[in-house]
Amino acid sequence: MKMAEPLWIGGLVAGPVQTNCYIVKHDENGKEAVLIDPGDDSEHILAVLEKMGAVPTDILLTHGHFDHIMAVNEVKAAFPSCKVSISEAERPMVENADLNSSFFSGTYEISPDAWLKDGDVLHLLGREFRVIATPGHTAGSVCYYVPEDGVLFSGDTVFFESYGRTDLPTGRSDQIFESLKNILTALPGETVILPGHGPQTTAAHERMIEGFEL
Ligand SMILES: [Zn+2]
Repeated sequence: MKMAEPLWIGGLVAGPVQTNCYIVKHDENGKEAVLIDPGDDSEHILAVLEKMGAVPTDILLTHGHFDHIMAVNEVKAAFPSCKVSISEAERPMVENADLNSSFFSGTYEISPDAWLKDGDVLHLLGREFRVIATPGHTAGSVCYYVPEDGVLFSGDTVFFESYGRTDLPTGRSDQIFESLKNILTALPGETVILPGHGPQTTAAHERMIEGFEL
């Protein structure tokens, strides 16, 4: 039996707070791409896409903070049919720069094409991308889980041996602990977690770090 090709996942680090932008394709030679959190440096992102000959069909946002959305409008201008999706609970944040902490480096607002909720399943690149609501870092933070490949895009909810801050608008520390517990105990231990900042980790490692029992 021929094994299915794994997702091709590339990345680049963008912007003032070193946000991970992931470029995901069906396989190495795939042309369609899904971008997770194009956070800044749109020229660099567009140059990388062009070099790969890749066309982004979708932008998936883990949450609405400025450092995860700053390149959205430029990518959308270059690829008008690219669909931008984010949790519906982030609507006030992406439509109001005062809430998304844009004050750090300008004013950034976006107009997404689709509003997601917990349990939604997106069919992209021949896979299921499952939307898991993980409020806490912001009210509408979500993770995207691709079970076929055992990969979780965790945004600013789970970091390597850490987790996202909760002191910005709509952040709640009680909620992020609940979200961390739910997600880290529900996913297979070998799940590869790709965070919004810093290096990758696994569900088993973070479960141990946080002391969550199965
Ligand atoms: Zn954030």
